[in-house]
Amino acid sequence: MEGSWRRAAHGALLLGPDGSAAPTIFAEMSGLAVRTGAINLGQGFPDYDGPDEVLEAARAAISSGLNQYPPATGHPVLREAVAEHQQRFYGLAYDPDREVLVTAGASEALAATILALVDEGDEVVTLEPFYDLYGAVIELARGVHRTVPLRRPDLQPDADALRAAVTDRTRLIIVNDPHNPTGSMLSPELRRLLVELAVRHDAILVTDEVYEHLVYDGARHVPLATLPGARERTVSISSGGKTFSTTGWKIGWLTAPEPLLQAVLAVKQFLTFVNGGPFQPAIAAGLRLPDAYFTGIADDLQRKRDLLAAGLTAAGFAVTVPRAAYFIVADAAPLGVTDAADFCRRLPELAGVAAVPISAFCHAEHVDEYRTLVRFAFCKRLDVLERAVAQLAALPR
Ligand code: PMP
Ligand code: GLN
Repeated sequence: MEGSWRRAAHGALLLGPDGSAAPTIFAEMSGLAVRTGAINLGQGFPDYDGPDEVLEAARAAISSGLNQYPPATGHPVLREAVAEHQQRFYGLAYDPDREVLVTAGASEALAATILALVDEGDEVVTLEPFYDLYGAVIELARGVHRTVPLRRPDLQPDADALRAAVTDRTRLIIVNDPHNPTGSMLSPELRRLLVELAVRHDAILVTDEVYEHLVYDGARHVPLATLPGARERTVSISSGGKTFSTTGWKIGWLTAPEPLLQAVLAVKQFLTFVNGGPFQPAIAAGLRLPDAYFTGIADDLQRKRDLLAAGLTAAGFAVTVPRAAYFIVADAAPLGVTDAADFCRRLPELAGVAAVPISAFCHAEHVDEYRTLVRFAFCKRLDVLERAVAQLAALPR
């Protein structure tokens, strides 16, 4: 009996050695932060609310009775707002009725896409470190996960390594840009190379763009679908969680040519069917906010990034300043740390701060390169970051 349960959950990646579901690194470190009262710079979620217009639109939707199942592809108002957003920010044209699908966060969009398009033995290429969901769902689909490492100091993949990883066996290339956990953005040359490789090997591009509006120092996010030859083979995925500080609402979406979208919908309808009815029009209201909102959140987070980067540097970490997203990768080696996973388990006790080790975003056999790296989230109130920085300054060296 026990053997069949284990097989049903696909072995070691999803089940711990004692047969219970191994918590994700985010759940583990948030749990530790709650138990110890540490400042939680581990799991990436803001400790402040998003814009009033968005919160108010959700309240209004609930009051107006928008509380039943939305249509299978999402409320028309949100599909229209997503299509408008893609046009407004990137000049990308998608038909809201045939080429936009609303999902339960970017997570469901990614899971349904992988499950729909990957057959047993198909290869899926991602960068490494990678967002943990990719590895788990590729395994659920019984695909083969090939990774291309991001190399320090600029955290870009090597072009030749990409060329070697993408072959005729590659079904999907999942491109997380801006990138979690490193906060790096791909160079224009590498973006072009990814599209060229996808075309040459007839692979489908799947983008994870959840940090599209959290880019700093005047940079701009460039979706892969805007590159020549990309749109017809790209499933572009994003969500409202980061942009509107509503990670608990789980409203995401994808845009894709109709045949690809239909393949994903075939799976998605049996995962959640639909979700978050009254939150859908609220995220639509968010996507239609003026430009000042989008530049405002980036400016605010850039200040927070700078505060935490300076604090971590003063505490003795070697910091890579991210260009995007809301995480800083800091090397704890100068503090004498040899294993960031162990360090993160002790950090609440040492400094009253929780963080996550980069090793959690890597396959076990590739951990060495990243063993002393720690990810700190800076999507927190300034006073909270200031307290965290003061506490980290007291770390023993
Ligand atoms: N992709 C990346 C890179 C993420 O960081 C996250 C969440 N933090 C997700 C996907 C999941 O997004 P959602 O909460 O919208 O499901
Ligand atoms: N994406 C968030 C992070 O990277 C966490 C999401 C989760 O807990 N699964 O911290």
